Amino acid sequence: MLLNLPDFGRRLLRLPSRAEEVGSLEVNMFSLNRKYDQLPRATGRRSFLIGAGAAAAGLAYAYLHRSEPAHAAAPTADLPNKVSIVEFSDSGQRKTLVCVATVIKTEDEWRKQLSPDSFEVTRHAATERPYTNENPNEHANGVFRCICCDTALFDSRTKFESGTGWPSFWAPIAEENILETTDNSFGMARTAVSCRRCDAHLGHVFDDGPPPTGLRYCMNSVAMRFARGS
Ligand SMILES: [Zn+2]
Repeated sequence: MLLNLPDFGRRLLRLPSRAEEVGSLEVNMFSLNRKYDQLPRATGRRSFLIGAGAAAAGLAYAYLHRSEPAHAAAPTADLPNKVSIVEFSDSGQRKTLVCVATVIKTEDEWRKQLSPDSFEVTRHAATERPYTNENPNEHANGVFRCICCDTALFDSRTKFESGTGWPSFWAPIAEENILETTDNSFGMARTAVSCRRCDAHLGHVFDDGPPPTGLRYCMNSVAMRFARGS
């Protein structure tokens, strides 16, 4: 395995405060996989949060069906001029660390380039409806790349069945290629994940994933394209 784990995952994980933990659990609960549902948490609280989780699922579902999208992503204007990212082949072979110009476009330019769903998710931090796309079931050898700028984001070898209807991974392909920021939208403390090069919103990361990292990168499939490896 090319990834340096589990230290890699631990570095990325922001341990939440108790309040944040409750907040993230509310978001997670509809998606907890029985297989990984063995973390040392109070049963009572977990049961209590099932209702909240169902509400969160409804909220997530509603994002793409509102006339106005949710705005939670950091503004693109905050992007530096250049970033260092790691290049990968479609087979997931790590190449070199390269310094590249960030990709900054206007709303209209993004709208022309992307499908309506991809546009709302990546540029306005919307959440797609679960079980709506094909690549959550994609387990062939390959790399998931940013739909906006083609940066490699996740290797299919880190993909796992989360039972959420969203493609889920236990690690990004390279720490350099993504950015994690605090997202306090909708009264919940979550960690948003975006593309380092173009600021595309991708999804969120939670701490209820499987070994070896214990992390669950819950991604929107329309934020990525799957590049099949040879
Ligand atoms: Zn990108």
